Amino acid sequence: MQGPQLDADQALARLREGNRRFVDHVVSLEALLSHARREDHARAQRPFAVVLGCSDSRAPAEFVFDQGLGDLFVIRVAGNIAAPSQVGSIEFAVEQFQTKLVVVLGHSNCGAVRATLAHCMAPAETSPALHAIVDRIAPGIAPVLAECGSGGAEACMPPAIRANVRATIHNLRAQSDYLRYAELQGGLRIVGADYDLASGAVDFFAMEPLAWQATS
Ligand SMILES: [Zn+2]
Repeated sequence: MQGPQLDADQALARLREGNRRFVDHVVSLEALLSHARREDHARAQRPFAVVLGCSDSRAPAEFVFDQGLGDLFVIRVAGNIAAPSQVGSIEFAVEQFQTKLVVVLGHSNCGAVRATLAHCMAPAETSPALHAIVDRIAPGIAPVLAECGSGGAEACMPPAIRANVRATIHNLRAQSDYLRYAELQGGLRIVGADYDLASGAVDFFAMEPLAWQATS
């Protein structure tokens, strides 16, 4: 039942279409039927996209992109950060399933980004484990804080959320020779998107390929 793997553009188009349905409160028959094909999926998987998203209860990638069982390889962690286990998970999917699209999905009103902004403005005691998340978000949003920090944390949220997505893309590339090589030579694309909790719309705003970014 498995067809050939989608290329990055085809995968992106399928996500955009699915998100349009989600915005319109429509669920595709295909996504629903995938539940009935559970036994087929048990034998093998071929997810057409990898999504590195936030753990926020309102940001489940399968819902947001209206996809079914076996469609998406999803990694969720507070603040959609790229710590080694996330990088390894993505490498695994790209290698095992020849998946050609990786989406780093940030979202509006992200609690992890808000907590990091608050911590940068007024450092407070947190557990080492929470600190590990804040420490990965803080460097990426520092330039935003320098620019709009005088307006308070809320004014910084929208640009900080996007800066955090861009920082995660940068960190994926910096930490993984495998992903960099796949991007430059293997048809892989790593893109960044911002999901608006209220409207449901996903804006793919960070689309620059690696080669372009390396020279900027
Ligand atoms: Zn979040």
